[in-house]
Amino acid sequence: TRSLAEVDPAVFAGVEHELNREQTQIELIASENIVSKAVLEAQGSVFTNKYAEGYPGKRYYQGCAPSDEVETLAIERAKQIFGCGFANVQPHSGAQANGAVMLALTKPGDTILGMSLDAGGHLTHGAKAAMSGKWFNAVQYGVRQEDHLIDYDQVERLAKEHKPTLIIAGGSAYPRHIDFARFRAIADEVGAKFMVDMAHFAGIVAAGLHPTPFGHAHVVTTTTHKTLRGPRGGMVMTDDEAIAKKINSAVFPGLQGGPLMHVIAAKAVAFGEALRPEYKSYIAAVVENAKVLAATLKERGSDVVSGGTDTHLALIDLTPLGVTGRDADEALERSGITCNKNGIPFDPLPPVKTSGIRVGSPAGTTRGFGTAEFREIGNMVADVLDGLAAKGEAGDPAVEAGVRERVRALCARFPIYGG
Ligand code: PLP
Repeated sequence: TRSLAEVDPAVFAGVEHELNREQTQIELIASENIVSKAVLEAQGSVFTNKYAEGYPGKRYYQGCAPSDEVETLAIERAKQIFGCGFANVQPHSGAQANGAVMLALTKPGDTILGMSLDAGGHLTHGAKAAMSGKWFNAVQYGVRQEDHLIDYDQVERLAKEHKPTLIIAGGSAYPRHIDFARFRAIADEVGAKFMVDMAHFAGIVAAGLHPTPFGHAHVVTTTTHKTLRGPRGGMVMTDDEAIAKKINSAVFPGLQGGPLMHVIAAKAVAFGEALRPEYKSYIAAVVENAKVLAATLKERGSDVVSGGTDTHLALIDLTPLGVTGRDADEALERSGITCNKNGIPFDPLPPVKTSGIRVGSPAGTTRGFGTAEFREIGNMVADVLDGLAAKGEAGDPAVEAGVRERVRALCARFPIYGG
């Protein structure tokens, strides 16, 4: 019954520091969000104590009736959100969800075809450093130099040449809609299964403001903590009953042991929130705000990869300013704005430096920032970048201190978690 502050002041202090950071910094990391108190409460609940290996109604332990209740809620709500026939809500993360699909539908040594990291793909789609790149013959497609859109002709060429078992669409830094029908046609041509990893844009699909992968993909994976605004975790969905069976066996006992029931309870809460009308307005604002942020940065002299965005994120090419991604994300952090450096397609700089930053609107929009605030944020980011352009990698301390104050004032007008 003793509180965290009493039992462990050091960890309590860390949590307080994080709370203060979130309250007083502007979060532009495209993969992050700010969950509701209800989601936090479910995740901090007694379900953390429970072992519930198996699935609702088919558990390997006793005492699982409450676990069955919340897992069933999570599954049914996920199916309702996406209009699909099956959901496995147990993957501990997005990487685990993707691993489960590979375990279900491929064998080590098979060929897989995914988007390369430097074009905006994810590590789990066949990058050399990841298990997907080490245990499979991973072939990678990219984007076209002229417009930064997925090179569908290249996808088709590579598919015909390498005959993959699995083709993967979706990424971490691709700002545009993906032509799922074209991918499926290519998969059908070569007898491959087609997986969409909608981790980034799942929330936009949930709100009906992004084309849905269902009806095209054999299997769909997602994280639950990005635009979906739930706890950190993963999920696998499909309309194919045979694949559904394989997915369940791949997640447990294939890849994981006991599910994180406290996280699953929090997923159920977030999915309930995503089914409410307010969530649709939230996502509409997310998309609008991302466009405003990208347009403002473009007006202030950066290039925007692919010319803009259809989603919650934009990839900003800093080359015209003569500034690197690394210097930019460090200077922005000093100024109270959090984002990440990100390679741009055909980036001449190495991944530790990069020519770009990735920015996103989901967290700021949750606070209540609208288009006026995102225009102001774009101008603040641009002021910091101009400081770097004028003064070199150390930046302009006066400009950064000024932006830090403007950030604090803006955050104070849109408080989160009571402050
Ligand atoms: N898939 C995509 C497209 C992602 O962007 C990410 C996360 O960055 C993942 C999978 C992995 O998710 P996690 O970090 O939960 O393992």
